[in-house]
Amino acid sequence: MIVMKFGGTSVEDAKAIDRAASIVRERLPQKPVVVVSAMAKVTDTLLKMAKAAGEGKRDAAMELSRGLRERHYNCTGELLGTGVFTRFHGELEAEFDALDELLRGIAAVGELTPRTTDLVASYGELLSSRLVSEAFQARGIAAAHVDSRECIVTDANHMKAAPLFDETNEQLGHTLKPLLDRNQVPVMGGFIGSTRGGVTTTIGRGGSDFSAAIVGAALGAAAIEIWTDVDGMLTTDPHFCPDARRIRVISFDEAAELAYFGAKVLHPATVLPAIQKNIPVWILNSRNPACEGTKITTRAPHCRNMFKAIAAKKRITIVNVAAPRMLLAHGFLKSIFEAFDRHRVPIDVVSTSEVSVSLTIDSNEAIPALAADLAKIADVKYEGRKAIVCLVGESLRETPGLAARVFGELSDLKVRMISQGASEINLTFVIEEEDVPGVVQRLHRTFFSELDPAVFA
Ligand code: ADP
Ligand code: ASP
Ligand code: MG
Repeated sequence: MIVMKFGGTSVEDAKAIDRAASIVRERLPQKPVVVVSAMAKVTDTLLKMAKAAGEGKRDAAMELSRGLRERHYNCTGELLGTGVFTRFHGELEAEFDALDELLRGIAAVGELTPRTTDLVASYGELLSSRLVSEAFQARGIAAAHVDSRECIVTDANHMKAAPLFDETNEQLGHTLKPLLDRNQVPVMGGFIGSTRGGVTTTIGRGGSDFSAAIVGAALGAAAIEIWTDVDGMLTTDPHFCPDARRIRVISFDEAAELAYFGAKVLHPATVLPAIQKNIPVWILNSRNPACEGTKITTRAPHCRNMFKAIAAKKRITIVNVAAPRMLLAHGFLKSIFEAFDRHRVPIDVVSTSEVSVSLTIDSNEAIPALAADLAKIADVKYEGRKAIVCLVGESLRETPGLAARVFGELSDLKVRMISQGASEINLTFVIEEEDVPGVVQRLHRTFFSELDPAVFA
């Protein structure tokens, strides 16, 4: 079997869902399980309406909900025509009525908890998966809708729940295998799951890729296909450089570094369950299915270029922790890291000197609580509006003088916190946020104007 995951833009409207159906039909002999995201931007809108409701702005929340209802109705009408529309229209109506009731409840209480946030957010994938399943059936594909909340079992860490793999794998096998044996095509929503007690959870933004990998690993898939809106993993974000080129093959490690540092084409955790089972992951373009995409494998072939790609991650804050009184004090670093751990704030880049440590974080919400904690042990300063730039490539291990070339190129710029990662395959540094497009374009021009045809298309 294979897993085919369609991202938000690949199911964004009737045309996109129609294209997805044709792509799946081509793969029927490989026994696909289909995992879908919410239609493009729907999760953002759901989170916005949940927030509005939480602030007591009931009308604003209902207005946003009405917009989503209309979009789903229209898309359904276009996909199914009037006959089937009546039944599924009724089902949609019931779902949106339930959503509205939930929003009214949140607005009445005036409080939004992570648990209710998850319940609101789950509607995106619940609805898209049912709609896609209906559309596939109407196109002669034996689709069977599967409610992911009955298969993906997670802990109760709402909005970023972690799957409990033993139970999840068992549930997935139990639910999906009989359908595949009957040559049916299971269609399920990504991103969502539920606790052992049946409470709806979500596994983190962009998490549908992770869902696809979990399903693929559980069933021992021959491949996991991530269908998106670009030709594959590119040498950089095409928003920065329209001339970014496709990477034919990339290693799991390289892809993970890139994903972590901002190449949002792939969710970082995706690679984990797939690595463990040695399952190749493909990134493919649902708008250009003839393109062979990018293959992510355990071992990348040798590449003549120094780097495979450049990623950039904006909205970074540098936290400078200085403790002159504790000069060289044993346990200083430990207490700093413990503070970050207590507030569950992940650290991206670290650099140290004898009396201070600089760390970067990408979330601002936890800063006040973290600051109060850190202030007990050190002097702390924050610098916002920074960005991390990361150059990735397995060849970094063997190539001397690389840093000199990169920073020579940027000699007019203030570069902070340079680190050649412990993984030895990334060179990372911090710059001002507004410098990102210029820096990425300059580096791309320097390092990607001549490309090894074995690796790049
Ligand atoms: P989906 O909705 O299919 O999950 P995403 O929006 O999450 O799609 O990811 C695809 C987007 O990732 C692309 O449209 C592109 O703008 C962006 N992106 C950033 N960096 C890269 C990169 N190196 N290669 C390809 N796409 C990238
Ligand atoms: N719909 C979710 C999000 O927008 C999950 C996903 O698309 O991967 O974050
Ligand atoms: Mg995505």
